[in-house]
Amino acid sequence: MEFELWYLIAVPILFASGWWLRGIDARQRKNERQGIDDHYFKGLSLLLSDEPDKAIDVFIEVVRLDEETIELHHALGNLFRRRGQFDRAIRIHSFLVNRAELPEKERAAALSELALDYLKAGMYDRAESAYESLALFKGHEIEAHEALMHIYVTEREWKKAIDAAQKLSSLGRKLNHEISHYYCELAALSRLAKDAARAQQYTAAALEQNPENPRALSVSADLALEAGDKNEALEAWNKIESVQSEYLPLIAAKKADVLAETDQQAALAYLHEAFAKTGSVDVLKAAVQRTAAWVDPQSAAGFAAEALKKSPSLSTLAVMSSIKAKANPRDEQAKLLADISARQSKLVSRYQCRHCGFLAHTFCWQCPGCEQWDTFPPLRVDEVKNKR
Ligand SMILES: [Zn+2]
Repeated sequence: MEFELWYLIAVPILFASGWWLRGIDARQRKNERQGIDDHYFKGLSLLLSDEPDKAIDVFIEVVRLDEETIELHHALGNLFRRRGQFDRAIRIHSFLVNRAELPEKERAAALSELALDYLKAGMYDRAESAYESLALFKGHEIEAHEALMHIYVTEREWKKAIDAAQKLSSLGRKLNHEISHYYCELAALSRLAKDAARAQQYTAAALEQNPENPRALSVSADLALEAGDKNEALEAWNKIESVQSEYLPLIAAKKADVLAETDQQAALAYLHEAFAKTGSVDVLKAAVQRTAAWVDPQSAAGFAAEALKKSPSLSTLAVMSSIKAKANPRDEQAKLLADISARQSKLVSRYQCRHCGFLAHTFCWQCPGCEQWDTFPPLRVDEVKNKR
């Protein structure tokens, strides 16, 4: 009986206390929600009043109350970044990254945004360290190493770019093409420093990554020539002609000069053939200059006049006018025509990126516009039109 009495009293008390506690919890949540709503309205009002820094202070206060508002902060941070207000974007994303209670997934997302803020703001050292931290988060390795590779390429830190690319390769990305070019950049720097042995090592590494890289083959031919090994140079040039014939205009003159050491006629025949194949003005210029030196200026002028008939362009006219002026040094009109056509052809002759359409005066292995490799054909726009 005593037990039943206790039971009859205790159960209603437990229900009542549960109801009361639930009431407290609901009232507390209602108060918090009210606080968040107040912050939202205050923040929005400050944003609309064009006081973004004060608005950020208010929104940062909101995060302390409700983690669900992180999305709002990302949206706001990204908006500031798109508007070029990087300091504000960085402030918001840094705040999120430094919140101790943030779950790992959210922290990685905030770190990714913060790294992008630094990158877009051109603060490469900070972006680098943010991406290095991001690379430690599972699922963000590829994004981080891709960004690091981009930073190192922009800063021309080729060894670090190779490391980042190799890490990406281990994660399944195929980057032999890019790595081969990074080694070519190192080889070019070594050549500038007059360190032929090291340039040779880097060229070999470039060819190991991409045995058909015309740039690495061309550098390897140049190094062989400098070392006095003409056969090795010819071998590398022949390989370019067989596997990457598009790049013939870049090597034709050098190869002709080596051929000319034993047979000038064969060298001229080679240049004429190379011009017929490519329509390259550089090859035409090389053929005309060497014909003038090895045969006579009149034959050279005749060859240039034939070329102009077949491929009429301002660049071809400039080559013909130049050799005619040299063949007739007393002819003032010929000299004037040579000067004008040379100047005009320089203005219109451009290499164009196949990927983004960027126009450049000089041939580039990497497009300055889209940063892609091997997207410039070794022919200028007017030469390509003539070839069609
Ligand atoms: Zn481009």
